[in-house]
Amino acid sequence: MDFSDRIQRVEPSATLAISSLASELEADGVDVIDLSVGEPDFPTPANVVDAAETAMEEGHTGYPPSKGVPELREAIAAKLQDDGLPYEADNVIVTPGAKQALYETVQTVVDDGDEVVLLDPAWVSYEAMVKLAGGDLNRVDLAPHDFKLEPALDDLSAAVSDDTELLIVNSPSNPTGAVYSDAALEGVRDLAVEHDITVISDEIYERITYGAECTSLATLDGMYERTITVNGFSKAYSMTGWRLGYLAAPEELVSQAAKLHSHSVSSATNFVQRAGVEALRNTEDDVSEMVEAFHERRDRLVALLKQHGVDAGTPDGAFYLMIPVAEDDQQWCEDALEQAHVATVPGSAFGAPGYARVSYAANLERIEEAVERLVESDLL
Ligand code: PLP
Repeated sequence: MDFSDRIQRVEPSATLAISSLASELEADGVDVIDLSVGEPDFPTPANVVDAAETAMEEGHTGYPPSKGVPELREAIAAKLQDDGLPYEADNVIVTPGAKQALYETVQTVVDDGDEVVLLDPAWVSYEAMVKLAGGDLNRVDLAPHDFKLEPALDDLSAAVSDDTELLIVNSPSNPTGAVYSDAALEGVRDLAVEHDITVISDEIYERITYGAECTSLATLDGMYERTITVNGFSKAYSMTGWRLGYLAAPEELVSQAAKLHSHSVSSATNFVQRAGVEALRNTEDDVSEMVEAFHERRDRLVALLKQHGVDAGTPDGAFYLMIPVAEDDQQWCEDALEQAHVATVPGSAFGAPGYARVSYAANLERIEEAVERLVESDLL
């Protein structure tokens, strides 16, 4: 399939579409409560901002090495080693955001007609990335299993075969907030080894959990050689606009992906990468404070929804919740925006019709008001 045909198969991002609709209303003076965004509402830690300023003053404003500045690649490898992953700096490519790392990985691994398995509901860009690479999607629906992976392992086993090239796993999950259990990840490992499947482990929400253990797939026996671990700074350090992420993988994959990387983006901004070293090393308190705040909001939102008869489960990570809404979730989200002035994202954008994704990256007062408005508009 030609690239021009592949791009025809891709839809614009549904999350961005809702956000821009919300911005239009706001520009007209409407007070919109935006629960559609995947962006922590906390400032980047001050010492990280200072580190970027210092790096600029010190003249780190030129092209960085394509795979990333050595100090950051070493700091990332050290972090991964602390997590039990045997990556060295040579296994790491620094990218302008995890999205770019995912794009490069999918382009490197997937050929025209290759089968890629997604666990639905799945983050919106996976589907687009696979389609751009010419891959064919095979989707396993976790919705009937309360978005948990462990009870869906039989379905996953039925879906994969020796024809499966790639499986994408995202725990904690966007959009469900689910953190997959060790037994679930071991099940993934068994299937990946049996059918020789490459696995992307998207761990961008790994620091944002509420008591649940978040195991990194590449730590499991048999997984290091077939896993590409993707992570970034956007969520844990509230650095969405800085555009900093990375992939870590065995050297063979890194050397292939590095070619695509060097001819397309040439790494993330030099002084941003130097600030990334500070983020990895000296932000423990900031991350804990943010996670505590998210935890409190999750509990409050779950309780408020329950009061109004909505059972949205209690997800263990990220800052999202899927709420069951009308069958036509697109219409429900449009009504929520137009009538209650609350922005959410239709579940069908993630492969989960009948749900809306709510992000609790907004303060408690706004979350409480959003629920009140949805109830007043008879939407809950
Ligand atoms: N992976 C998932 C699951 C995400 O939710 C996002 C952003 O929303 C990304 C990757 C991309 O993150 P980044 O801002 O680092 O590009």
